[in-house]
Amino acid sequence: MTERTLVLIKPDAVARGYVGEILGRIERKGLTISALDLRTAPTDVAATHYAEHEGRPFYPSLLEFITSGPLVAAVLEGPRAIAAFRQLAGGTDPVEKALPGTIRGDFGLEAQHNLVHGSDSVESAEREIGLWFPHLASR
Ligand code: GDP
Ligand code: MG
Repeated sequence: MTERTLVLIKPDAVARGYVGEILGRIERKGLTISALDLRTAPTDVAATHYAEHEGRPFYPSLLEFITSGPLVAAVLEGPRAIAAFRQLAGGTDPVEKALPGTIRGDFGLEAQHNLVHGSDSVESAEREIGLWFPHLASR
């Protein structure tokens, strides 16, 4: 059973030159990159993407951060792709939660600037793929 997930290589990771490193880890894990695009997110897309966090204290700065410069949006496919990418990413806080060996654990210092996003469920993945790659929306 193959699965799809939506990944963002966030503006901090792009600015720091980690696109190749992160895509390399995705490829070495065995996940298939089925869509890939460098773009700067408009505020409405960022707000929809993070709608579940509206009202949280970090929400305004999160939107500012995500729209602050180019990011890489990608769709990955593979067996258990959602959990597999979240394993590669590590926990949300790069110091308190992410383990060494994960993307966040190896390269991050702050909860907000944690390099990557990965969908957290099949429902989120389908919603996020439809948002970032409308032509790939599920039927
Ligand atoms: P994720 O699914 O692991 O990305 O984490 P969440 O869905 O809980 O949060 C979404 C994003 O908001 C995270 O990836 C961080 O960039 C940011 N974030 C989460 N928690 C905090 C926090 O406590 N402080 C700040 N400044 N940002 C946070
Ligand atoms: Mg999340």
